[in-house]
Amino acid sequence: MKSDLLSMFPEELGELCVSLGQQKYRGKQIFEGLYKGIRDIGEFSQLPKGFRESLAENAFIPRATVKRKLVSAIDGTVKYLYKLHDGETVESVFMRYHHGNTMCISTQVGCRMGCAFCASTKAGLVRSLYPSEMLLQIMECERDLGERVSNVVLMGMGEPLDNYDNVIKFLKLINHESGLNVGLRHISLSTCGLVDKIDRLADENLQITLSVSLHAPNDEIRRKTMPIANKWSIEQLIAACKRYTDKTGRRISFEYALIAGVNDSRDNANELGRLLSGMLCHVNLIPVNPIKERDFKKSEKNAIKTFVETVEAYKISVTVRRKLGADINASCGQLRQADAEK
Ligand code: SAH
Repeated sequence: MKSDLLSMFPEELGELCVSLGQQKYRGKQIFEGLYKGIRDIGEFSQLPKGFRESLAENAFIPRATVKRKLVSAIDGTVKYLYKLHDGETVESVFMRYHHGNTMCISTQVGCRMGCAFCASTKAGLVRSLYPSEMLLQIMECERDLGERVSNVVLMGMGEPLDNYDNVIKFLKLINHESGLNVGLRHISLSTCGLVDKIDRLADENLQITLSVSLHAPNDEIRRKTMPIANKWSIEQLIAACKRYTDKTGRRISFEYALIAGVNDSRDNANELGRLLSGMLCHVNLIPVNPIKERDFKKSEKNAIKTFVETVEAYKISVTVRRKLGADINASCGQLRQADAEK
């Protein structure tokens, strides 16, 4: 099998060079060239021609091409549907926030977590992405728009902790000073709550923000929409979040999609407040984005206001997510699905 150059660290590239009879420092040259925009092995002009040929026989630079691109007329949010080398497609979203350009990327093609409200999981998991394919979503967007991305959220299609090794490698690559050099504190990873993997992640001691998709104040409600809740209880999940904070010093961001009549009552808000009270955390409320398979509805404005005030009374910081790209279906795997149904 050919080596995927963009998924490799300079040291690994160096070893590859040595195995092909070259000197180790060539690995650093290749690494830097990739992030300067080289997309074809033939373009590495500083490498000897004979070596370029043997490299091309043993390795490749993966590509992602823009299959569809939607630009929001409201706020300039850009949604990409990228085609990967095997024809599979993934979505990414570019958003302009006051704190910087933010890219929401996918970590898998499809997803096997089965959350009832999510479009990405409807057809199950096709495959996990390689580190290079996560990097490419950002690099191709930067190339396309001529702008830099300063913040990255792993909140697109897929469950990042279900693609653990590749995601960790991606985080280390994107943070590399000779690469994209994105600070780990500018990266958020969102999980539906794989408790064992949260513990593993805590041991990596990376300074990323961990977002946890909670979406319910108790197991009974959570099990109605999230199959993962049958594997781990909220008690186990919250305990893992506390261990994460203890080890990394980072506060957890809890995602909570408000679904009318399912999890948005004042009682639900009180129960959530009691659950999280005293934790180093933040609650991010997201009015649910209706998908066509299910008749979930967004909570009413008043219900949202009451929910926010009730949780805040427990001295917990709460925000309601501002919706970007409302006119381009910017969320939740809907573009890939629409494309597949064409
Ligand atoms: N698998 C990861 C990351 C991908 S989803 C996770 O579960 O966290 C990113 C966020 O969008 C999650 O909080 C997810 O629960 C939420 N989400 C998915 N579908 C949604 C919808 N229709 N409306 C609102 N939020 C949704």
